[in-house]
Amino acid sequence: MTSVPTTPSTQTDRPTAVVTGASSGIGAATARTLAADGYHVVVGARRVDRLEALAEEIDGTALALDVTDEDSVAAFTSVLPRVDVLVNNAGGAKGLAPILDADLDDWQWMWETNVVGTLRMTKALLPKLIESGNGLVVTITSIAAFETYDNGAGYTTAKHAQGVLHRTLRGELLGTPVRLTEIAPGAVETEFSLVRFDGDEEKAAKVYEGIDPLVAADIAEVIGFVASRPSHVNLDTIVVRPRDQAPNGRFSRRS
Ligand code: NAP
Repeated sequence: MTSVPTTPSTQTDRPTAVVTGASSGIGAATARTLAADGYHVVVGARRVDRLEALAEEIDGTALALDVTDEDSVAAFTSVLPRVDVLVNNAGGAKGLAPILDADLDDWQWMWETNVVGTLRMTKALLPKLIESGNGLVVTITSIAAFETYDNGAGYTTAKHAQGVLHRTLRGELLGTPVRLTEIAPGAVETEFSLVRFDGDEEKAAKVYEGIDPLVAADIAEVIGFVASRPSHVNLDTIVVRPRDQAPNGRFSRRS
């Protein structure tokens, strides 16, 4: 996959924020929030048409990115002269099946995207984040990084691993000017369930039936707050759920 455009207009006085998975949902909302807060936002994802529309709206830069592809990550990261904030948001779930019936392709997709994708992006951009003198890495894990639920092990194992990767950096980067924040959302109504159920709109809608789920902007606002704290303040872990959701898969649903 090639980068679009090849020479991004990243020469700017504004601090630069990179948001992965910005073609939809939490990523797109986060790009809007950070741009409104004064960042030059570089948005990455595979659906470049959506990215370009967003970049135009927020005066940012759209670059094709597939976090599961080493060459794509290299092309994306190598053209950025400066990075102050990295939001590791690209990710998601595929399928909902007991381990006995696990689909290996779905598991591989989830691990490659959520875990190895976060590793690729973070590893590539850490030198620039350190060089910025006040770097911030925000990783969007999930309550699935702390809990398990039946039929969800492909996703919960991947999110646990992604969370452990992120939390390990907190020690490894101690003494460097980089802050690390993990944000673990509960149910947010985005394209997440549509992707999980392979485009089945009826199944996806059922997930949010009878509850008031979070919306992408709720998480984006939290990221804006995190990024705007003074540089000595590190918000380590933030769990955000809808009021209608308790731990361990319990929902209050209106009938
Ligand atoms: P979404 O609307 O489906 O957005 C997912 C984003 O990830 C899309 O922009 C997608 O873009 C991108 N993406 C997927 N694979 C990618 C790849 N290989 N390379 C680059 N980008 C890729 O879902 P969302 O709810 O906003 O999800 C964002 C993050 O929040 C995910 O990490 C998800 O696990 C997490 N999360 C979501 C919820 C929830 O209930 N929605 C709860 C907790 C955590 P392209 O398809 O264009 O590449």
